[in-house]
This record gives sequence, C-alpha cells and structure tokens, in this order.
Amino acid sequence: MNTSNPLTILGPLKPGETIIETDTRAKTEPRKGQKGKRPARMGNLLVITGPSGVGKGTLVKRLMPRIDKLKYSVSVTTRPMRPGEVEGTSYYFCTSAEFEDMIRQGAFMEHAKFAGNYYGTPRGWVSEELERGVDVILEIEVQGAKQIHSQYPDAVMIFISPPSFDELATRLKERGTESEDKINLRLEKAREELQEKNMFHYEVVNDKLDDAVNNLEHIVYAERCRLPRSRS
Ligand code: ADP
Ligand code: 5GP
Repeated sequence: MNTSNPLTILGPLKPGETIIETDTRAKTEPRKGQKGKRPARMGNLLVITGPSGVGKGTLVKRLMPRIDKLKYSVSVTTRPMRPGEVEGTSYYFCTSAEFEDMIRQGAFMEHAKFAGNYYGTPRGWVSEELERGVDVILEIEVQGAKQIHSQYPDAVMIFISPPSFDELATRLKERGTESEDKINLRLEKAREELQEKNMFHYEVVNDKLDDAVNNLEHIVYAERCRLPRSRS
C-alpha cells in the first residue's frame, strides 16, 4: 500500500512547473545520463477493470500477497466511506471541491465520475514506483481504464467478467453496500461496460475465485517476461 497522502503532498503548481509524465514505454533500455541509477526494467502498469460487483477488489486482495514487487495504487474518491473502510488504505476520501482542485493541478493519471461520485488515480506515487521497477496495479472502472489505455500504450489491460449478468446482480445485492437505486444504476452501467471488454488485452472470468486469482497471477508473471514492444 502507498502511504503518502496525495491530498496533502500536492501543493499548487508553481509557474513554469509541469507534471512529469510516466514513461511506461522504455521497459529495459537505460535512459541517457541515468546509467546505473535505473533498475533493469521499469515496472509494469497493470489495470484491472470490469463492472462494479464483479469481484475486482476481492481478486486484487488475494493476488497482492502472492507476488513480490507488486503494489496497489490507492485511489482518491468523493464517495462516502463504507463501514470497515480505512482512509489511505481503501481510498483517500475527499470532497468534490478538493477533487476538482486536484483535476486542475493535473494530479490524476486518469479520473472518472462513476455512479455520481469522482474516482481518480494519483499520478506521482504510481510514476515513482514504476521507475523503481515495481509493478503497480490500478483497480478502476472502465472509463478510467480507457483513458489509461490510450495514454499509456504499454499498460497491461485486464478485464474481469462475471460468469453471467444474473450472477453479477446477485453479487452486488449480496455485498449489501449500496441502496437498491444505486445497485440498479451500477447494473445499468455494467451492461454498457460488458460490451467494451474486447478493447482490453486479457479477459479473466471470475467464476471460481481461486481459478481467477491463479489466472491473474500467471498474467503478472508472463508480462514480466515480455520484451518491449508497442501493444497498439
Ligand atoms: P468489485 O470490487 O468489482 O466492485 P467486490 O470485490 O466488492 O467487487 O465483490 C463483489 C461481491 O462479490 C463481494 O461480496 C464478494 O465477496 C463477492 N465475490 C467476489 N468474487 C466472487 C466469486 N468468485 N464468487 C462469488 N462471490 C464473489
Ligand atoms: P466503489 O464505489 O464500489 O468502491 O467503486 C466503484 C467503481 O470505481 C469500481 O468499479 C472501482 O473499481 C472504480 N474505481 C476505484 N478507484 C478508481 C479510480 O481511481 N479511477 C477510476 N476510474 N475508477 C475507480
């Protein structure tokens, strides 16, 4: 887990100051003037996406302890905290005004409004970890995943599918974290999101949990062996 709170470390941009983009393309070549400082390879940016309630969070929690040099990016959101959630571990929680300020400062690699709330991936921490050769997982919804896909061609895009739409609805209801209205909103959105899976690199069907976690683990290791090449 990352520990530096993006809400406190981000001051306003000074005149002439720019946000440093993450270079996820050059995976193995040392950069000019940085010989010796850089790890043998950049970390992989791994994006886990799919409809709400499909099991992304559950899968990622099980995957993380199995693999070294893999970290989870804690997102920023304006959604109210659910019982059991922890500031800085589940999310960084903030107001809409604070979130909009961060958008203006260019603090997000991607951000989206989903079911009435903002969600975003803080840029700075992710870039640092990738530079250190650590793989970083983003667990995000589909609009945000599409933004990453178009901006970071080497990002590894993994779509999690439910075994059926009915099973997705059951999982969302049984999770019991949203009102019926909000569940219906998320299911409506899910119908659209499921149409978009073919734009991603991998599909993992989350039917049996253990099988799905195993498949994710194989993908992470396979991607570490991949030679640099454009994915587009
Ligand atoms: P997401 O992060 O995609 O919104 P969650 O990880 O919160 O989804 O999972 C939604 C619900 O489905 C949770 O109650 C979780 O325990 C359950 N769940 C996740 N994976 C499975 C699975 N393979 N089989 C049955 N239930 C699952
Ligand atoms: P929840 O409210 O259930 O925690 O999350 C709703 C959706 O927002 C989930 O699909 C979750 O994966 C997604 N999400 C979480 N963090 C981010 C983020 O930083 N950016 C985007 N685009 N989506 C996110």
